[in-house]
Amino acid sequence: MHIPLLDLKAHHAPIQDEILAAITRVVQSQAFILGEEVVTLEEQIASYCQTKFGIGVSSGTDALLLALMAVGIGSNREEVITSPYSFFATAEVIVRIGAKPVFVDIDPISYAMDPAKIERVITPKTKAIIPVHLYGQCADMKPILDIAQRHNLAVIEDAAQALGAAYPDGRRSGNMGTVGCFSFFPSKNLGAMGDAGMVVTNDAALADRLRTLRVHGAEHKYYHRLLGGNFRLDAMQAAILNVKLKYLDDWTRQRADNASQYESLFNTSGLLETKQVQLPTAVYAHAGIDNHHIYNQFVIRAQQRDQLRTHLREHGVASEIYYPVPLHLQECFGNLGYHEGDFPETERAAHETLALPIYPELNDEQQAYIVGIIRSFYTNS
Ligand SMILES: *Cc1c(COP(=O)(O)O)cnc(C)c1O
Repeated sequence: MHIPLLDLKAHHAPIQDEILAAITRVVQSQAFILGEEVVTLEEQIASYCQTKFGIGVSSGTDALLLALMAVGIGSNREEVITSPYSFFATAEVIVRIGAKPVFVDIDPISYAMDPAKIERVITPKTKAIIPVHLYGQCADMKPILDIAQRHNLAVIEDAAQALGAAYPDGRRSGNMGTVGCFSFFPSKNLGAMGDAGMVVTNDAALADRLRTLRVHGAEHKYYHRLLGGNFRLDAMQAAILNVKLKYLDDWTRQRADNASQYESLFNTSGLLETKQVQLPTAVYAHAGIDNHHIYNQFVIRAQQRDQLRTHLREHGVASEIYYPVPLHLQECFGNLGYHEGDFPETERAAHETLALPIYPELNDEQQAYIVGIIRSFYTNS
């Protein structure tokens, strides 16, 4: 058996005709940059996130960069607090804009930043917090928003892995902070066929600024009020995403079903009692809300993680480590002055976690095979 981490062929096959028709529409319109398809997607995503405004951009990374520019960060070594356990872009954009990332350790259950550790790193230079909704569930936003309000900080949600995820108060990711940032990289739960992203907000003035900055800071062509960049979303990607968004809720349900299936398979495997494997915790499941976890990833902790990963690969099962090197230990951030041991929970997660296939089209037989292979690893080792 061969089981990939993501099966985009199976994912797109049932909707291929619809996608090709959308692409044809764009080709016939000859409107390739921004335009009607992008406006439609912006309205749809804003409505999906329960926000007033959506601004389509070129990628999730650019969404974060643009958000930082729009809230006015980037001079004089201003500080932005974020998680050291995320995709590289979360911290990269802070440095690129001229500010300084300040990390706080994660909560070992949710893998998102631990709100209890935020206040002690706030200084007069702190301007914003970027919580990351890792793997598909929201960071604990209530305490984060309280702290931000007390210290007058902007909150930029990195929701690249959590489109549709809800917090216990019912609000969706992207709709809690000052701005929310999404990625439609092909491997995300809503993926384009290239790079694409979105910023959402409820603040009309901020939405205007985001739109202006997206096109080189020009409200009117060739008259540049601000220094922005080219952060535009192209019509082809928007047209594809407009087709795919209709199916997102079905896909999310299938991902959640796969997560429950893993739970029952692991429950009878004997691997949980021995703590050889620990399952992900849906932190807000008790809140009785839909989409408390959208399972962009299904991430276990495993003893002898690297050997298990090799064993899975040898038996045709793909898996992934998100992320093997925490951000505070990345070579290019050496000058920030962090060291091994600074964030023990982050470092432990980087050593123990392994993402298993959870894509919507994964079937029961494949899941049983995966858990069987994992069991064979521990019984023979
Ligand atoms: C994917 C991702 C990004 C970057 O998105 P791109 O579209 O690849 O630029 C940023 N943050 C997190 C947490 C991500 O998972």
